[in-house]
Amino acid sequence: MSLAQGRHYLAIPGPSVVPDRVLNAMHQPAPNIYEGALIDMVAGLIPDLKAVGRTKHSAAIYIANGHGTWEAAISNTLAAGDKVLVVASSHFALGWAGLAEKLGIKVDVIDFGKQPNFDLGCIEAALRADVNHEIKAVLTTHVDTSTSYKTDIAALRGVIDAADHPALFMVDCIASLGCDRFEMDEWGVDLMITACQKGLMTPPGMGFVFFNEKAATARKKLDRVSPYWDWSDRIEPEIFSNYFFGTAPTHHLLGLREALNMINEEGLEQVWDRHKRLSVAVHAAVDAWGQGEGAMRLNIADPAERSSAVTSVRIGAPDGTRLRKWVTDNAGVTLGIGLGMAASNDPAWHGFFRIGHMGHVNAQMVLGVLGSIDTALKALDIPHGPNAMAKATQSLSLGAFTSG
Ligand SMILES: *Cc1c(COP(=O)(O)O)cnc(C)c1O
Repeated sequence: MSLAQGRHYLAIPGPSVVPDRVLNAMHQPAPNIYEGALIDMVAGLIPDLKAVGRTKHSAAIYIANGHGTWEAAISNTLAAGDKVLVVASSHFALGWAGLAEKLGIKVDVIDFGKQPNFDLGCIEAALRADVNHEIKAVLTTHVDTSTSYKTDIAALRGVIDAADHPALFMVDCIASLGCDRFEMDEWGVDLMITACQKGLMTPPGMGFVFFNEKAATARKKLDRVSPYWDWSDRIEPEIFSNYFFGTAPTHHLLGLREALNMINEEGLEQVWDRHKRLSVAVHAAVDAWGQGEGAMRLNIADPAERSSAVTSVRIGAPDGTRLRKWVTDNAGVTLGIGLGMAASNDPAWHGFFRIGHMGHVNAQMVLGVLGSIDTALKALDIPHGPNAMAKATQSLSLGAFTSG
């Protein structure tokens, strides 16, 4: 017998849960793309997007997933032969680096590995050693979705400034935007990318590049930019179709409009606080399960370096896969695989899982996930420490709290 019937919860770190309000907003006949409501709506969408990115600068929309925005960012700022420094907390920054290399960019990588802990001194040394300023951009992730490491973006900016280095600072916020506090302008980020299917709660298919004057100047210096990725017309469209270099992604736009309404109604600071509080409850439970005989561990030891959007967990093979399968089959919740933590043909691959708690998530959903995991540990006889649910509920009941 299974208790999985009922509404399924996809608790993976993207795509995230799509709110009914967003689904309903998309449930419309095809709108006109030449005049009328859609045209006005998109003009109003841009300022709201910038507000979530905490920037007063430019935002370009692409019909693309996150990988598309990686390419858009590079295509508009760099030419083949240019060099970048990629500061990686494993999987996703390395993916961006690999894409850059295929575009002919020379890539220097500092990878802090699967349990990252950034050594800012080492990054500063690499920038200082670049006396001729061959490094044109520093690329990193705000949150790496595989390790769930949150980079201190302001501190990294500080290091670039301390080295007095003119490189563009480009940040991947695909996992974190609308979940973890991010301040593009205040933290001195020149270019930021994100996609719609994580904190922005919209089905996958749209990506966004936010950029300031410094990045715009880099674009203007390039002899040639791949026409589809070129952001010039997209941010100053003479006709509506220039926003998208062709037909608008009509229903995605309707969905995104509603998602941004929801964020505006709740308030961005509140949205960050909600994510933070829910994630702290997840961390409290995992810590408790890891007590005594329990093998479970949070991948990121330092609370300040943990994301509010996703939690990577180590449990040891094969229990990660056993646990994921059990909760899907018996409790109606799907957890994330341990992306990038081991090769998929390595038995160790089965020793990890991730909990997505991004976007349209509330206390009962997170408590449901944690309760399902707690049940699975017992049903599968996986050794674990006691009182995880009590720790989680205690943490949620503590009102005094500030987001960080
Ligand atoms: C999800 C994600 C990506 C990839 O996005 P896609 O939409 O799958 O292309 C890139 N970077 C980070 C940090 C992500 O979380």
